[in-house]
Amino acid sequence: MNLTPADLIDALRTVLDPDIRKDLVTLGMVKETKVEGDRALVTVELTTPACPMKDKIRGDIEAAIAAKAAERGARHSGVEVTFTADVRRANERTKDGANPLPGVRQVIAVGAGKGGVGKSTVAVNLAVALARMGARTGLLDGDIYGPSAPTMLGLEDEPTQARGNMLLPFEVHGIKAMTIGKLVDPDKPLIWRGPMAHGAFKQLATQTEWGELDYLIVDLPPGTGDVPLTLSQLLPLSGAVIVCTPQQVAQDDARRAAKMFEQLGVPVIGVVENMSVFVDDTGREHDLFGKGGAEIMAHAMGLNFLGSIAIRPALRVHSDRGTPLANWNDARLGAELDLVARNVAARVSTLSFQGTLVQPTISVR
Ligand code: ADP
Repeated sequence: MNLTPADLIDALRTVLDPDIRKDLVTLGMVKETKVEGDRALVTVELTTPACPMKDKIRGDIEAAIAAKAAERGARHSGVEVTFTADVRRANERTKDGANPLPGVRQVIAVGAGKGGVGKSTVAVNLAVALARMGARTGLLDGDIYGPSAPTMLGLEDEPTQARGNMLLPFEVHGIKAMTIGKLVDPDKPLIWRGPMAHGAFKQLATQTEWGELDYLIVDLPPGTGDVPLTLSQLLPLSGAVIVCTPQQVAQDDARRAAKMFEQLGVPVIGVVENMSVFVDDTGREHDLFGKGGAEIMAHAMGLNFLGSIAIRPALRVHSDRGTPLANWNDARLGAELDLVARNVAARVSTLSFQGTLVQPTISVR
């Protein structure tokens, strides 16, 4: 006797999504179940192609179906699990009205308490990592005071293009990108008064033809200024990633940034520790800034820790050359960047799932 598709569904009801802690059938993640002779075929739709739990879910499915086969006395030689992904759409509405970017499913801000901690580096590599994993990803360089994308993405020779009054994003390294740095004289200082900063950021975000995106990563200016406020009013933000280096002084500023997002009603996705240790060319690690400081701070504040990125000369060189994909030529560096991206995507999936169950609340402290 063989298993039936109904047996497979029964078995899958016992497999929990490790983050959301509900079973795959209830979550609507099982898209297909088939039995071919003594083999089972299961297609599971994840909420992100960057799911860090794929292997765990596959293992749990195999175990559950094997257990079912044993229970039913059925012939069973294995399971073929296929994963697809459909990134959930975040809230359709912003706090103030209709969402101006309905084609974008999740908007993720990347902020930092202070400049120079690697916020833009993390934003760029988060976008590229998600794209490498199969997500349609955009990067909005919202650091209107000091845009880094022209250099970090190597946009110097890319022409700026528009259709009607819409800007066309630059399509580079697998992502779509827009930056004020390509619209102004790169040698002139960018001085914006509050309302101008609001207007410039709003135009950049809403007058770019992003098309359909799974993730739009927004690189914010450092600190707690006008742009995060504008962003939180303008777009339905999934949450904010805070980049921090391990030292106490950086942690203090990161704490302020986290509080700001909380006040704006933006969930903090978690903290990334950048410049965790220095890795020299021989691969030896040197602890310069107090490795683990940002992780301790994250836990003390009840925030998720999303991973650490070491100081590696290669990362700086690839940023300066505008060749982010080269970061994945170094397996350890690539693995660090991928882990951060997976953790961000998993957390965003969980948050948007909770958002469909829990009424959003705005906490002002
Ligand atoms: P921020 O956006 O916070 O001002 P950047 O991302 O522009 O910071 O980084 C500042 C400088 O430090 C850049 O030259 C960048 O290439 C470099 N940098 C950032 N993180 C790392 C790292 N982990 N290893 C090596 N260089 C880094």
